[in-house]
Amino acid sequence: MRKGIGLPVFPGVAIGPAVVYSKAQRTLPVPSGDPAVEKAKFESAVEVAREQLTAIFEKAKAEVGEEHAAIVEVQLLMLDDPDYVDGVTMSIESGAAAALAALETGEEFAQIFAAMDDEYMKARSADIRDMSQRIYDILCGNTGFSLPDGSFLLVAEDLAPSETIQLPRDRILAFVTRQGSSSSHTAILARTLSIPSLVQADINFDDARSCQILAVDGFTGTWYADPDEETLAMLKAKQEEAAAAKNALEAYRGKESITRSGKKVLLAANIGCPEDAEDAIKADAEGVGLMRSEFLYLGRDSLPSEDDLFEAYKKVALIMGERPVVIRTLDIGADKQVAYLGLEKEENPALGLRGLRICLTNEEIFRPQLRAIYRASAYGNLNVMFPMVASVWELKAAKALCAKVRNELTKEGIPTKEVPIGVMIETPAAAILANDLAKEAAFFSVGTNDLTQYTLAVDRQNAKLGEFYDPYHPALLALMAHIAKAANDNGIWAGICGELGADPKLQEKFIEMGFSELSMAAGRILESRKRVCESDV
Ligand code: PEP
Ligand code: MG
Repeated sequence: MRKGIGLPVFPGVAIGPAVVYSKAQRTLPVPSGDPAVEKAKFESAVEVAREQLTAIFEKAKAEVGEEHAAIVEVQLLMLDDPDYVDGVTMSIESGAAAALAALETGEEFAQIFAAMDDEYMKARSADIRDMSQRIYDILCGNTGFSLPDGSFLLVAEDLAPSETIQLPRDRILAFVTRQGSSSSHTAILARTLSIPSLVQADINFDDARSCQILAVDGFTGTWYADPDEETLAMLKAKQEEAAAAKNALEAYRGKESITRSGKKVLLAANIGCPEDAEDAIKADAEGVGLMRSEFLYLGRDSLPSEDDLFEAYKKVALIMGERPVVIRTLDIGADKQVAYLGLEKEENPALGLRGLRICLTNEEIFRPQLRAIYRASAYGNLNVMFPMVASVWELKAAKALCAKVRNELTKEGIPTKEVPIGVMIETPAAAILANDLAKEAAFFSVGTNDLTQYTLAVDRQNAKLGEFYDPYHPALLALMAHIAKAANDNGIWAGICGELGADPKLQEKFIEMGFSELSMAAGRILESRKRVCESDV
């Protein structure tokens, strides 16, 4: 047995096989020097690519609809394009190895397509690149990383949101990452999925690869590779205890979240996609306090269309019914990057073009999103809020576009409902200006993850700064009290959707300050309701 420690981000015990996630590594195979051999290699790689793309096509058709699947179908057709195949063959005959011939010919074709006037043909250049990259990867033996059939614990250096979005979430028992912090996105995902996880773990990938069983104790922050019998028995007992405690919380299902002195608190869930809304209902959430829209933009290679977004928001609205849903507009930038937007690399991405700043400077991104939200408003109880606001003019500009979009839809005969517009308070400037912002907003929702980062000037992703990232810092708590007072003084409600909203040590204090909504990982709702109901504030 080998063991080590990490920073626990969700309690519980997980036991199972380990899978190490490693980013793709490519090694160019040694060329045979024989064109006939290289041609045969190319042909068999095309067949493997065909099998892979067919499987992806079927999955996409079933899960994301015909439109998205059509992109994959185009690549399937391109595999047999005679011009492409001839180009590769000629390159091989002039001495190139199959892998490079496939890649370079793909690049030449991609550039020809990119220079075309027709928008549709232009857009196909990315498909050619993808298709030829796939053949290249197959020839280089890069099969990505393979997953076992059942459930597993995922060990990684760190995981970007664009990577986690591609994982089979229902089969992951725990995350164990060597990097990351308690408010990094892997940690947030672990809480959303209610799985015991460790960040900053001192695990070595060879230990993880060679063990039969990996276990994570999310109560103590310990991992065990091939635990001995005694340890395994101890872990299983803890697992049963945790299951019993979870069961006991069932007494709070369906109960009102109200303190002993009569303060009503709305306990809502944070979600990233429509499927999470189903989990929110199962967890007895009273609403959605934060839908992180950017997850609809990650894990794909082009912007989602207005219809894609509309379908996702409509689904959430219908699942949640009467319950309020707060949709946050796109919060890309900093740790959540999407390559297809082609944004410039920045020296200080956390202080760069992110959140509402991207939307205000790129109306072609913002407008379809707002149209989708207003179209979906007819199906439920939707609210919208903007991330990373620092000035009143930003809120006013975003509100003006909302009004314009709603007007346009009405003229087009598309039904919409009133959508209350709120502000995420994530910057010290927004917190200080809370009284001014409150006059323009229907509600506040505090993003404590970023508000902590920007108030204390401590990077939330930097594992080395853990002790300085102090969510109990008096400066932060003073800002929180000011935000709640400003909201109440101006007759609007204030909630918290950052990770602190579920903090057992602070929930009572927040209610006392005047926050009336706490939004959190769905798995935290019932325990929070117990705390609210047992509170005297
Ligand atoms: C926050 O900053 O607290 C928040 C909820 O937003 P995110 O974690 O997605 O940046
Ligand atoms: Mg934030």
